[in-house]
Amino acid sequence: MQIEPQAFDRVLSSMCTEPHPVAREAAERFLATNPGDPGTYPTVATLEDEAIERLGEIVGLDDPAGYVASGGTEANVQAVRIARERATGPDPNVVVPESGHFSFQKAAELLDVELRIVPTNDHHRASLEAVRAAADDETALIVGVAGSTEYGRVDPIPELGVIAREVDAMLHVDAAWGGFVLPFTDYEWHFGHAPVDTMAIDPHKMGQAAIPSGGLVVRSSELLDELAVDTPYLESTSQATLTGTRSGAGVASAVAAMEELWPAGYRSQYVRSQNNAEWLADALEKRGYEVVEPTLPLVAADVPQSTFEALRAKGWRISRTAAGELRIVCMPHVTRAMLASFVGDLDRLEVR
Ligand code: PLP
Repeated sequence: MQIEPQAFDRVLSSMCTEPHPVAREAAERFLATNPGDPGTYPTVATLEDEAIERLGEIVGLDDPAGYVASGGTEANVQAVRIARERATGPDPNVVVPESGHFSFQKAAELLDVELRIVPTNDHHRASLEAVRAAADDETALIVGVAGSTEYGRVDPIPELGVIAREVDAMLHVDAAWGGFVLPFTDYEWHFGHAPVDTMAIDPHKMGQAAIPSGGLVVRSSELLDELAVDTPYLESTSQATLTGTRSGAGVASAVAAMEELWPAGYRSQYVRSQNNAEWLADALEKRGYEVVEPTLPLVAADVPQSTFEALRAKGWRISRTAAGELRIVCMPHVTRAMLASFVGDLDRLEVR
């Protein structure tokens, strides 16, 4: 029996998307390769070096180090791990704005570090006062989010960097979702603008690569060395990744997507997605809903629970923020026609 995967025509909540055709094709060709064992699979290992070079270009690093991870969760966990390894005090803590992804909770539990979750301001961005108040000389890491999961907001990364340096902590930027759209905006978010040490940037989200294709990028290879363990039974001698066997498909598709789309293809996709988000925000506002302005292609709006449930019953794959707003992510597969059909359903519900 052939089971068809999820169709994308009603998916409005996901941060992943249909892979670009060249990424799909590359993934298929490299399905049986394992970049976790580069001595045995040298071709995919070379491709992974290329992936990191290209990610370095996107995030503003001339000499990047890192690897293609399983996703943003792994990149965030590994960033916390690097910081913990570098910490000098006995009780390291990590300061994260409340907009931080739940993967930081996993990291804190796994790595036994204290997580200090601090409030965001009225614009859903990290409050610098709150971060400053929470950070102390046991702080190993300060996290800034560049494209938050719920509202698509970008924290003031350079200012967070100043605080991190004041307390001798590292700075991690979670651009897992935002990383492939931010180069086309005015936000200061990357290694070139601020003392960023580590970053999550996922090709399998806005990068249009196949799943699993996440990115951990670090300022210098010494930071990656903090993660390395000896690997006696492999042809290579050490491994910095969290998982052992990894997806060559993810690596190959990331390179294929970036080769094809960086920068012009990503730029035009960002413009399309952002225009769609603004169109939707406008349409919802005109219908009387309170909307959180989309600074990146993600719209949140205060839609009643009953309307939300009715839209779900019509097959729309939508989700809510912790505060209960409807949340729609304008990923590459989300077209204006899809959004118009969604708003049409909303109008029909309102008439009843
Ligand atoms: N960081 C951010 C900002 C995210 O939005 C997400 C997921 O949506 C993650 C990290 C986790 O990524 P993954 O689900 O690929 O592990």
